[in-house]
This record gives sequence, C-alpha cells and structure tokens, in this order.
Amino acid sequence: MAETGITRKATPEPLAAAPIVDAYLRAALLAAEEVVGAAGLATLLRQIGLAQLVNNYPPDLPVASGQVTFGDYSTLCVGLLTSFGSAGKSMMLRIGRLSAKYALLRQSEVFKVAELNTVKTLPRDQQLRFGLEILQAGYRTLMPELKLRIEDHGEAWAYVAETCPMCIGYAAHEPLCWAFDGVLQEAAYVQSGKIFAVKEVACRAQGDPACVWEISKQPSE
Ligand SMILES: [Zn+2]
Repeated sequence: MAETGITRKATPEPLAAAPIVDAYLRAALLAAEEVVGAAGLATLLRQIGLAQLVNNYPPDLPVASGQVTFGDYSTLCVGLLTSFGSAGKSMMLRIGRLSAKYALLRQSEVFKVAELNTVKTLPRDQQLRFGLEILQAGYRTLMPELKLRIEDHGEAWAYVAETCPMCIGYAAHEPLCWAFDGVLQEAAYVQSGKIFAVKEVACRAQGDPACVWEISKQPSE
C-alpha cells in the first residue's frame, strides 16, 4: 500500500486488538458486498488477512462477541479504500451511506430514530445537532470505548472522534475515514430528507489528536 502513503503505525494502538460490536462490522461487510459484489469482497478479504470472514460474517447482534476486532474494522476500511484506486473516496462514501442505512434500520432503537421526530419544531441547525448527538449516543451504547463529542465550528457542526474505528492502527498523509463522511450524510438525510455537505478535516492517521468531520449546518439541496 506504499503508493497511497498508507502504512501500519509503528506503535500498535491497544484498542485495535479489542473486540468490536458484531453488527457494526457486519453492516460494513454487507455494504461493501453491495458495492463490490460477493466474489470481489471475498477476494479482498483474503488479500488483507481477513479470510476467516469469507462466507462467515459476524452475526447481526449488538454485542462484541470477540469474533472481530477494531483492528479488523480499520483493515477492512483501508483495504477497500486502497483497492478502488482513484475511485476510492467516492466508493467509500457509498459504502458509508449503505452501512449507515443498515445500522440505522436494524439498530433503530439503539440510535433512537423515533426521537428525531420530537424536535421537528426546532430550527434546522439545532435539529441537525440533536440528530448528531443521538447518533453519538447510539455509537457509545454499542461501543463504550469511543470518545465522541460535537463542537460548534461556526457554519458547521464538528463531529469529533478521539477514537476512530475506521483508521485505528494506520498512518497516512491525508484523511482516511471517507466512509464516515457517508455515514454522517446518510444519518442527516434519514433525519431531514436533505443532503448536507460533510468533510473530514482532521484524521488520527495523519497524526491529529482526533478524526473530525465538519457537517454544514444548512443543507446543500
Ligand atoms: Zn479516523
């Protein structure tokens, strides 16, 4: 993967070896399969050292059974990103949107999707903030290891992740966590029916203290 500037970090991050929620990795696998096909995904899984997942996805359960780890998740994301070449970013956006769709539909109670309807009278930017807080609360329920917060960056809300399953254990010269741009876009779309611009502006893989995504407070369409 040297041509992309992506390498394994010299010092392993302990969280990479910790179990990750089964359903979270499963959603990413289903989304990836929808984009690259079952055969393509199987080939990739063998190439990136995750052959044990071929025809053996983790169950659709919101528990970390120990079958898969945070490091498996980032290895899958980075493997997909690099396998697409120049199309990597747009493909990962699509995979992110699809995996959010799976997660929000199947884990709608964890992500309190019904609560989004209770804030329809708030201004649109405050509705969006509420939706992002609920999303983070859902992720914390599934993965208490995640350190997440929302910041106000003026024209945008910032989704700040001091721990990030998408890039853990990897170093790169540019932000890596494109799939999460798609997750945030889809979450905002599910809430409002509108598209909001999302951009990762800092990434732990680049040496930043946190992965940070800016979500425009107003929709672009
Ligand atoms: Zn990241």
